[in-house]
Amino acid sequence: MIIWGWRSRNRELSAGEFHCPGCDAIREYRQFRVTKYFTLYFIPLFPIQTLGEYVECQLCRRAYNETVLEHPPEPYAESGPDSVRRDLESGTPLEVARRKLVQAGMDQRRAQDLVLSAAGEERWACVDCRLSYIDDVPRCANCHGEAPRGSSRALPKRGPARRSGSSDFD
Ligand SMILES: [Zn+2]
Ligand SMILES: [Zn+2]
Repeated sequence: MIIWGWRSRNRELSAGEFHCPGCDAIREYRQFRVTKYFTLYFIPLFPIQTLGEYVECQLCRRAYNETVLEHPPEPYAESGPDSVRRDLESGTPLEVARRKLVQAGMDQRRAQDLVLSAAGEERWACVDCRLSYIDDVPRCANCHGEAPRGSSRALPKRGPARRSGSSDFD
């Protein structure tokens, strides 16, 4: 018996940063093309049809039409403390915000200061991956670990007796 059929495959077209409407923040995206393939014994042989393209936010995993890329985000380093704050409020770890500033051309020290002033004193660090977040963020975007109860005032559940806010941001 010959088993044939079709299935769709995703091929990555591009990746970069965009303004995610779901997060309302600058995020990393990957753009995919979905193509329908003819399969024989479950092995894709040739494309039958392009089904479409979509852009996926790498944080919230929402998918968008490619027109979402038509308005490139303003350069992160020029965006100032307010947009860094908005970015942190949307769940971006402090370390990632700092990396984005450095990648945008800001020197390490200034990036660190800008992120710290945007974050303020109330922040916590994920016990598992040690990424830092501001208190408004309920869980770690990386491992989905929850903020320690009482947040910045609580102690981490394990590890040496350090404040939960301790990370390389202290
Ligand atoms: Zn998003
Ligand atoms: Zn984590």
